[in-house]
Amino acid sequence: MAISSHSIDLDFDHNHLWHPYTSVNNPLPVYPVFRAYDVFLELEDGRKLIDGMSSWWAAIHGYNHRVLNEAIVSQMQRMSHVMFGGLTHEPAVNLAKQLIALTPQPLQKVFFSDSGSVSVEVAIKMAIQYWAASGQFSKNRLLTVRSGYHGDTFAAMSVCDPVTGIHSLFKGTIQKQFFAEAPACRFHEPCTDRDLADIRLMLEQHHMEIAAVIIEPVVQGAGGMKFYAPHYLVRLRELCDRYDVLLIFDEIATGFGRTGKMFALEHAGIVPDIICVGKALTGGYMTLAATMTTDRVAYTICSGNPGLFMHGPTFMANPLSCAVASANLSLLASYDWQESVLRLEAGLRQGLDSCMELTNVSDVRVLGAIGVVELHRPLDMAVVQKQFVDKGVWVRPFGRLIYLMPPFIMHDEELRILTAAVCDVVKTMQ
Ligand SMILES: *Cc1c(COP(=O)(O)O)cnc(C)c1O
Repeated sequence: MAISSHSIDLDFDHNHLWHPYTSVNNPLPVYPVFRAYDVFLELEDGRKLIDGMSSWWAAIHGYNHRVLNEAIVSQMQRMSHVMFGGLTHEPAVNLAKQLIALTPQPLQKVFFSDSGSVSVEVAIKMAIQYWAASGQFSKNRLLTVRSGYHGDTFAAMSVCDPVTGIHSLFKGTIQKQFFAEAPACRFHEPCTDRDLADIRLMLEQHHMEIAAVIIEPVVQGAGGMKFYAPHYLVRLRELCDRYDVLLIFDEIATGFGRTGKMFALEHAGIVPDIICVGKALTGGYMTLAATMTTDRVAYTICSGNPGLFMHGPTFMANPLSCAVASANLSLLASYDWQESVLRLEAGLRQGLDSCMELTNVSDVRVLGAIGVVELHRPLDMAVVQKQFVDKGVWVRPFGRLIYLMPPFIMHDEELRILTAAVCDVVKTMQ
């Protein structure tokens, strides 16, 4: 066996570990990270990469942050975990208070879970139990739009885009849901009746079978990094009210400032019945998510049979996760994050706009601290990944998309290097 110069056993990783969405027949290279701090990932060989991904939307304050480290260490010295059945603790109560204060007033009830996908499962169960408790047992399916992404567990998968989510492969094992056309009106445009014609028709025809509409507000993330008009959501809220269907916003990617507002729903100024948050909630330190709903939904669920909400994860409201999430939200409140996101938005625009002239680029779009370069053709991930690493940046493209969502603490100079690397790599692909 080859003796590796790394202290990480990369051969073992290669032979035994599954990484997200990978093949064991043809494992792509993985880069061993020795440590991470500020906006940098430091590889085993000493190379420092500027992080353009925030570890998939999560590390909004970068890595190894003194305040967040302290929150975890001091919580660990009191307790790392206790069951949440029959017990409670300060980190959970404090975090719930912060979440309720940050979200629209009607969202008063908080259910903690371990990951975004599970928070979506919980939201779906809430919607179905709500209608069952109201005596409407036929209202147990979901309506959503194409190009969505809501997670990898079965119920969450059932509302992901049916093509990219490969529903045909899982036919019979995942619930068949209703899919309307993806919102087509662009961010600054108003939506016309035509833009909502398809979803209106589905509501009109099937509302007696539909418990809720689930949608990512304003930004469709992993399903295509598309931004659409907040006005769409205003009209969707009206339709949901008219047809007596609950509205679920999946804010797992958009929550906590990423789009320039604390939550993307603020662009539309409307309130859903249920929201899911996760990813940036803990600043990327621990896995934690929450599903929040209104008193009306919560009290109705618990007035029906069996009189309880039927979910309870082992690690519900884990104190370490809650403590670091709480510190992360306090940190966000302690500085002008809107100004940071606006600064990143301007830097992303300035840095990525020059890609627009390249012949292989079909679109460049920026919203808040999200920058997207869309290509005409899918790229070769392994090749492109190495080019980025060689340029000293960490960017993880997929399909035809190269996208950036840097930590809010990134400096202008680092952002300039990051965006220049994107345009340079795109240029070499022409
Ligand atoms: C990432 C994501 C999820 C799934 O969250 P996990 O923590 O990966 O389970 C769900 N919805 C959206 C919009 C996401 O971006």
